[in-house]
Amino acid sequence: MKYVNEYRDPELGEKLLARIHRRSRKPARLMEFCGGHTVAIFKHGLRQLLPSNIEMLSGPGCPVCVTASADLDKAIALGRLTGVIISSFGDMVRVPGSRSSLQQARATGADVRIVYSAQDALTIARANPAKSVVFIGIGFETTAPTIAASILQAEQEKINNYYVLSLHKVCPPIMKAILDLGEVRLDGIICPGHVSAIIGSRPYQFIAADYHIACAVSGFEPVDILLAVDRLVEQIESGQPQVEIAYRRGVRPEGNETALRLMESVFEIGEANWRGIGAVPASGLQIKKRYEQFDAAKNFDIKPGTALEPKGCICGAILRGVSTPEDCKLFRVTCTPEHPVGPCMVSAEGSCVAYFQYVT
Ligand code: SF4
Repeated sequence: MKYVNEYRDPELGEKLLARIHRRSRKPARLMEFCGGHTVAIFKHGLRQLLPSNIEMLSGPGCPVCVTASADLDKAIALGRLTGVIISSFGDMVRVPGSRSSLQQARATGADVRIVYSAQDALTIARANPAKSVVFIGIGFETTAPTIAASILQAEQEKINNYYVLSLHKVCPPIMKAILDLGEVRLDGIICPGHVSAIIGSRPYQFIAADYHIACAVSGFEPVDILLAVDRLVEQIESGQPQVEIAYRRGVRPEGNETALRLMESVFEIGEANWRGIGAVPASGLQIKKRYEQFDAAKNFDIKPGTALEPKGCICGAILRGVSTPEDCKLFRVTCTPEHPVGPCMVSAEGSCVAYFQYVT
């Protein structure tokens, strides 16, 4: 498979590893922002292959994990309204909210359907004109353009029973928020590949310029990640942090202008609530007033109650990079993929799932 096999080439991987070992001298703390990278790093055992002076931390780039309990409670409250069909990505359905999950709500009568895209939700809306179909919109800049497209399509087709609960988030502001918290010292960041395919590499310039932290945008195959680490090591050793693209087949500095225009036509930047971090200004995407007829937050009266975090769960600290799943007393004891206590044990991109599956 072209553009995949060569990035799984063991010989190429070994050469990169040898170069990293040869060049890396300074202690280096690298954070992979994206949950997809976390899983790939564990799956391919990359942490263990790197020199001992390189420490890898996982960041907040798992969309399901960073969705705050308060926001999940809103989705569950919407699902309990008469005549509402909730459509959601599968992982989200299993995440425990303050008092219930969407899955539990379904067991007690809510109409909750798993979809693979916003287009699937639109299909449900077309087939159920007497019901209100609410799509739970989570994810970063990667998914937002397709959800914007679904709203434009709903308008064009005059589908007036389709709504989106926009819980979308954007990456660069949360990176800044984490750096400003000052809880973790970082020397380098592996920037997300899929998000960067949309926004490009330029929005990370402030990290190198203002925080003097090396940045490399990475793809998701093992050679991609090793290449990104190699670029970070080069920057750290030379003392010249910058933003490099180590994923040239997927990312351009300016991003994807068509997708950006699509996203910006429907959404505007606003505050978002992040699990473990709280409200972060300008880190979310809200539906513009022009499209408020599709905004679930504006069209339904819900009272989700006070948000509660799962007792004993430290997902918030894990998402900020200050703890690992092994620091959690519930890990492997009462919290497992079959019986998850928190979202990091539910999502396919969650750190707790990655540790559970790949760290023995
Ligand atoms: Fe939360 Fe479970 Fe992870 Fe602990 S192991 S942080 S309870 S998801």
